[in-house]
Amino acid sequence: MQALDQEVARTHHELDRRTAAYLRSHGLEPSCRKGCHFCCYAMVVISLAEAEYLRAQLEPSRLAEAEQVGQKRLMQIARDKHQPNFATEYFLQANPCPLLGADGACCAYPHRPLACRGVLTDLDAHYCAPGVVLRLRGKNKSQYQAQLKPYHGPEHYLEVPWQSSQRSAQQLWEKEQEVRGFTVIGELATMIYLCAQEDFRRAVAAGPQASKHYLKMQKLLGGEWGFWVG
Ligand code: SF4
Ligand code: SF4
Repeated sequence: MQALDQEVARTHHELDRRTAAYLRSHGLEPSCRKGCHFCCYAMVVISLAEAEYLRAQLEPSRLAEAEQVGQKRLMQIARDKHQPNFATEYFLQANPCPLLGADGACCAYPHRPLACRGVLTDLDAHYCAPGVVLRLRGKNKSQYQAQLKPYHGPEHYLEVPWQSSQRSAQQLWEKEQEVRGFTVIGELATMIYLCAQEDFRRAVAAGPQASKHYLKMQKLLGGEWGFWVG
């Protein structure tokens, strides 16, 4: 849907503008650099509008790869979506995002989801690696904790950009509800895979109840980390 694509691009741009203004006004310089990618092992949640927008930006070979990964993740989510610690375990397993290039850079960087745009830190990037903060002990833990400021959180990530990305995602969901009548929210690769499935597209075209039914049949609906239709 063209109107939604435009809305996604506008929301991305607006979040980046607000984040840049916040960083400037607080004199903060993120450590985030091209090729730094520990945060790309986390579970990324996007809406259907962002998934459709992202798919349209990917090279065919990358899209095919993302769909393959998505098919596997579908099974993982169907199995574990009720586990309260699923997202933590997922991160610790260091599942790379299928859009991560061999050079450690996002192959869709200008079009990356809101959830990715909100993850920034001004501390050393090694704290972002899966399990590093959890394993800190003694002097190393004290050194880490001494660097945390009121503007950090969760953990050592910058709080304001993180919260702004969540608010932007909420606004985009509301816009999608207005335009499409509802939205579907779920894990990035699984969503990219589903968008290629004829029966999923038919369910979306038929409306929220059909979409819920489809996702329920796939064992993706609900749970703490499953898909959501609303
Ligand atoms: S959040 Fe951490 S891992 Fe991600 S780009 Fe920034 S410093 Fe690197
Ligand atoms: S979409 Fe890009 S920035 Fe986001 S997790 Fe994937 S590779 Fe990283």
